[in-house]
Amino acid sequence: MTETVVANPFEQAQAGRPTGPLVQGFEVIIGFETHAQLSTESKIFSRASTAFGAEPNTQACAVDLALPGTLPVMNKGAVERAIKLGLALGSHIAPRSVFARKNYFYPDLPKGYQISQFEIPVVQGGTVSFFVGDELKSVRLVRAHLEEDAGKSLHENFIGQSGIDLNRAGTPLLEIVTEPDMRSTAEAVAYAKELHKIVTWIGICDGNMQEGSFRCDANVSVRRPGEPLGTRREIKNLNSFRFMQQAIDYEIRWQIGEIEDGRKIQQATVLFDPDTGETRAMRTKEDAADYRYFPDPDLPPLAIAQEWIDRVKAGMPELPRAMAERYVRDHGLSEYDAAQLTQSVALARYFDEAVSKGATPKLASNWITGEIARRLNAQEIGIEAAPVKASQLGQLIARISDGTIPNSAARVVFDALWSGEGSEVDAIIAAKDLKPMNDTGALEKIIDGVLATNQKNIDEYRAGKDKAFNALVGQVMKASQGKANPAQVNALLKAKLG
Ligand code: ADP
Ligand code: MG
Repeated sequence: MTETVVANPFEQAQAGRPTGPLVQGFEVIIGFETHAQLSTESKIFSRASTAFGAEPNTQACAVDLALPGTLPVMNKGAVERAIKLGLALGSHIAPRSVFARKNYFYPDLPKGYQISQFEIPVVQGGTVSFFVGDELKSVRLVRAHLEEDAGKSLHENFIGQSGIDLNRAGTPLLEIVTEPDMRSTAEAVAYAKELHKIVTWIGICDGNMQEGSFRCDANVSVRRPGEPLGTRREIKNLNSFRFMQQAIDYEIRWQIGEIEDGRKIQQATVLFDPDTGETRAMRTKEDAADYRYFPDPDLPPLAIAQEWIDRVKAGMPELPRAMAERYVRDHGLSEYDAAQLTQSVALARYFDEAVSKGATPKLASNWITGEIARRLNAQEIGIEAAPVKASQLGQLIARISDGTIPNSAARVVFDALWSGEGSEVDAIIAAKDLKPMNDTGALEKIIDGVLATNQKNIDEYRAGKDKAFNALVGQVMKASQGKANPAQVNALLKAKLG
């Protein structure tokens, strides 16, 4: 048999792109296919529920199983979500796209075919832009198409049996396919995070990776600089960013090892095993021809009128990039802070609300990206679960800005809010007696007391040691329980020491 060499259809779009960083002399090439489960309440072609976690096989109806005599009916909500993604990424939204049957056999697909889009997808082109470090990267989309999910095989190892749960059959998916534009693991993970941010931001997918709502397939190949694209292996179903990074790193090293040992990479589909940290081949790869795609005779072409697109556009939320630019422009935040605050809709909303409750934007940004981010990380929770609500942070910062309390006291209030010891900023300030000392007489008394018992520091200060002075200031602050104004303490101390 002679070998037919088919040119890689992705090759042409790579011409002229700069070479990426080399790993042991090899350039890494990565392209992504992401399945985003669309957040509709019912299935893509039926009225069955898409809710996660129901009893097996209680949510697959006759249409989902393609029983004879049933007909699929397009879910408008799924199409609308596809339009939203296209608008968010600057894609062309096809006025007419076509559903096709992708034929294959698998136990979780009893109907024998999956309804997908093949030749004419609904979303075409577009770009995802994001920062890796301080470098702006752009990944081009090839397409995003609508399709239905299959069921799930459940392997109950403890009884040595497998079962099929068809609840997921017919759940709407948007498969988002990129050009092989990524050049490192870091870039690939940053792309996936950005896409995740966008689909959750515009509300088309809940983004829950554990439940499989956002699953990424990473296509990875390596080549020596200047060579044509290498043969790719596709790592399937990466459902956490950490596994994604481990899997791609492992795959790159494995492929380089194979080539250096004189072997050829076989195109294959592989799975990542988190227990071993390795990828292993699941099956060799089918070609499109194996699926015998043909237009689904039960579904007319999907027509999208410009008016519909315009209506969806009018209802689109402000996107993260635009929001970050606004924070820089209107609130005077740095680009970096603005980028941090627009990591998720929830975080941006938190910031907006704190500001609307009276917080100075710059201070709100510092608290959120500093103290609050640290605590959230330590407790491994998201901003939605932060014990201090945005309105409380807003009030607290307002009390710093209006001079009611100094920063040191604000920390005490914040602790009380976070631990649930109190819930009302002003009440905590009063209960803990945190207002600064305004009475000079009382402060002078404290200073006299400190001076009377710290002769050694006084002598050292007079001998020219600055450290000794700072020690005295510290003593006074401590004796005042942090309520004294440090500038005032400085002035009074200097006066008394002559
Ligand atoms: P399939 O569904 O068979 O995997 P697609 O054409 O839908 O095929 O998707 C191919 C994916 O593989 C795209 O994300 C593309 O960017 C990526 N890809 C293509 N060629 C390479 C390559 N040589 N190295 C890495 N990724 C590649
Ligand atoms: Mg693929």
